[in-house]
Amino acid sequence: MQDFNNTYDKENIFAKILRGEIPCSKVYENEFCLAFNDINPQADIHVLVIPKKEYISMDDFSSKASSEEINSFFRAVGEVARKLGVDNSGYRIIANHGADSHQEVPHFHVHILGGNSLGTLLVKGGK
Ligand code: 5GP
Repeated sequence: MQDFNNTYDKENIFAKILRGEIPCSKVYENEFCLAFNDINPQADIHVLVIPKKEYISMDDFSSKASSEEINSFFRAVGEVARKLGVDNSGYRIIANHGADSHQEVPHFHVHILGGNSLGTLLVKGGK
């Protein structure tokens, strides 16, 4: 089982995207982060924003990243949403951490979902 609080897996798919080993459909980039379209979109707009440095999850990022990185990252999330044109219509951001959330890729990322009505946040209890 993936350990979401311990060692960063340099072979995870987003690490490969950051190294340019796997292509992505880039939406935005700055010094600290990259945003690209999700390969399996769950809404009309589904973009992932990731930090360029090695953080496993929200927990890892929020405890280890510098204030500058955190500031830049969350400003980028807002900027990407505006760039995507969903700031008026609305959007949802999701960050999965760990096993119960079903985090699939162990490199911290925020999903930006929008472009259509998204329904309720979760099926009751997530089950
Ligand atoms: P998680 O479940 O970890 O929060 O979300 C991982 C997301 O990464 C999923 O929505 C999945 O579709 C997306 N994903 C997985 N592999 C790739 C890939 O190779 N390229 C892109 N663009 N997205 C991917």
